[in-house]
Amino acid sequence: MYDYDLLVVGSANADLVIGVERRPAAGETVLGSDLAVHPGGKGANQAVAAARLGARTALLARIGDDAYGRLLLDSQRAAGVDTVGVLVGGAPTGIALITVDPSGDNSIVVSPGANGRLTPEDVRAAAGLFHASRVVSAQLEIPLETVVEVVRSLAPGSRFVLNPSPPRPLPAEVLAACDPLIVNEHEAKVILGAVDGGSAVGDRPEDWARVLLAKGPKSVVVTLGSRGALVASAEGVERVAAVRVDAVDTTGAGDSFTAALAWKLGAGSSLAEAAAYAARVGAVAVTRRGAQESFPTAAEVEGR
Ligand code: ADP
Repeated sequence: MYDYDLLVVGSANADLVIGVERRPAAGETVLGSDLAVHPGGKGANQAVAAARLGARTALLARIGDDAYGRLLLDSQRAAGVDTVGVLVGGAPTGIALITVDPSGDNSIVVSPGANGRLTPEDVRAAAGLFHASRVVSAQLEIPLETVVEVVRSLAPGSRFVLNPSPPRPLPAEVLAACDPLIVNEHEAKVILGAVDGGSAVGDRPEDWARVLLAKGPKSVVVTLGSRGALVASAEGVERVAAVRVDAVDTTGAGDSFTAALAWKLGAGSSLAEAAAYAARVGAVAVTRRGAQESFPTAAEVEGR
């Protein structure tokens, strides 16, 4: 019935990374390492993560008509993502300029570029993709009005998954569509703080999950890094055990977790089962460097 297990609507960025001894102060110039260019952006990352697991995946995104756009298309296609929904032009490809010092601290400037030009009209024009997709996932590196249009475009019976990153207050219409809303600790605090006018909800993730659920989502997942995750729905709050690994680079962990969870939910798993599988995927991803390069195949997840 569905052509795609997952439609990802979101950002595609080129990450330009330079290692430096010291990040420059105002007015200062420092010399750094050779430039490394990586495909990134939360939308592109989720699509690659899902496709590598074997999900039939499509990406709805906007890139520039430039070399970084072609790099992003190549990485999507290499992973097996259907790029029929990737729109080209309107602005340069989104870029993240990243300087990293020896302690691992970084400074990042993002130019959203074409991501900022993914419009509600683009979403409406992709109605065929929405009708062909069992699950739709989104993040917040595209305009919020575009995410609102995504929610309005969902086909009857399809499921919506949102990772509100970077976090910002969400309209009730978007919150009500989430099944689940997936947040890490930082995102949970921002969304709760904003919605509650800054009132404290304490330090217990179980309480955050309950208060977030009361804001309207059908279900909530709070990811807790090396401590695993929590799932919350009308049936209650459940812990998902962490998978013990030696982490070397947590970049992209949340993106691979979200992709795996969305795929498993579409395949009929319960929220707790899907989150347990997603935790295994995230755990493999953190044992490898990079974002898209670190995402495992289903066989690699089974093999652990
Ligand atoms: P984000 O990348 O969005 O900040 P988290 O750091 O919470 O999100 O990671 C997402 C998920 O990836 C976690 O819920 C967990 O399942 C897995 N994960 C992340 N870091 C580790 C780790 N150090 N060890 C094992 N699993 C991890």
